[in-house]
Amino acid sequence: MKEIIVVAEHRRGELRDVTWEMLSRGRELSEGLGGELSVALLGKDVKNLAEALKPKANRVLLIEDNRLEFYNSETYEKVLTQLITERKPMLTMIGHTATGMDFAPSLAAHLKIPLATDCIGIDAKDETFALTRQIYGGKINAAVSFLKKGPQYMVTLRAGAFPVIEKEPLSGEIVSVPSLLTDEGLARRFLEYMEAAAGEVDITQADILIAIGRGIKDAENIPLVKELADSMGGVLACSRPVVDKKWLPKGCQVGTSGKTVKPKIYVAIGISGAFQHVAGMKGAGTIIAINKDPKAPIFGVAQYGIVADLFKIVPVIKEKIKQLKKS
Ligand SMILES: Cc1cc2nc3c(=O)[nH]c(=O)nc-3n(C[C@H](O)[C@H](O)[C@H](O)COP(=O)(O)OP(=O)(O)OC[C@H]3O[C@@H](n4cnc5c(N)ncnc54)[C@H](O)[C@@H]3O)c2cc1C
Repeated sequence: MKEIIVVAEHRRGELRDVTWEMLSRGRELSEGLGGELSVALLGKDVKNLAEALKPKANRVLLIEDNRLEFYNSETYEKVLTQLITERKPMLTMIGHTATGMDFAPSLAAHLKIPLATDCIGIDAKDETFALTRQIYGGKINAAVSFLKKGPQYMVTLRAGAFPVIEKEPLSGEIVSVPSLLTDEGLARRFLEYMEAAAGEVDITQADILIAIGRGIKDAENIPLVKELADSMGGVLACSRPVVDKKWLPKGCQVGTSGKTVKPKIYVAIGISGAFQHVAGMKGAGTIIAINKDPKAPIFGVAQYGIVADLFKIVPVIKEKIKQLKKS
């Protein structure tokens, strides 16, 4: 039987969107291959999550252990090594997220299974898989294949790259897999979740986000955009370089290593649209991009685009809003 295993990702009692995305694509692949779809759920007291996953797979492989309460690359690697060695799935799907990027390479190396990372497309082809990955900061989609012929493969899939397609529910069964974990050899330990500092605005709750990128050039230019945000009743957000330069706090960062936001309106100003950023904001209702480069990838996800120098256009928009408010 050709089995595909999706490794469920969850945090603080909630399954992450990438899990549903992988299950959706995994189901299409397994149906095409005449195989079965399983989802591996590692955690402590996560039966409620197993129940939620049941309709999306043929089986939920539930591994519960006190040591799995929080994500830890060491425990994940040990448990998944055991599971994959026993079940020999044709394909293991892992999210290309902070955690997936952390454990997938060492897991694949340990098991000597070829791994393709950060895929935005995957199709079954001649007993192997044809993959799509992006290169040159998302400007080119490259068709890639595994050098080594199976029988087992592993992929990490980019979060937000695969749509969640609603299908007839499956009657997945929950299979409890005993954990063979011991404390022996565990060097890493979870300490705490870092909460946003008091007083910081939670950008995930805002309806309107005005996000700035490296195009803003200097911290002293931020008030220009802050005034625009205030006039629109919006909140400031940003890309990673703005945080790296300490122009705005980490809590404002949108993207794979920042926050995932779904505001009604997202205005990206001077942001190129690297996939790490886009993954965090592509779920916004309406995306408006301002960039002086007409080839910037952000225009590929924006519904409205303005090709212009932000220092010229932002004051014009601000003025227009002021006039509209007066009238
Ligand atoms: C592991 C990892 C995780 C990452 N996580 C994140 C993340 O969570 N979030 C994130 O954002 N990035 C993240 N990155 C970084 C990401 O790859 C990009 O480098 C980053 O998003 C680029 O930010 P930017 O668009 O602001 O800057 P740039 O790519 O430098 O783009 C600046 C844009 O501004 C435009 N511009 C310049 N001047 C003007 C002007 N006067 N008027 C109008 N437009 C102008 C330019 O045309 C350009 O498109 C991550 C990278 C790695 C490796």
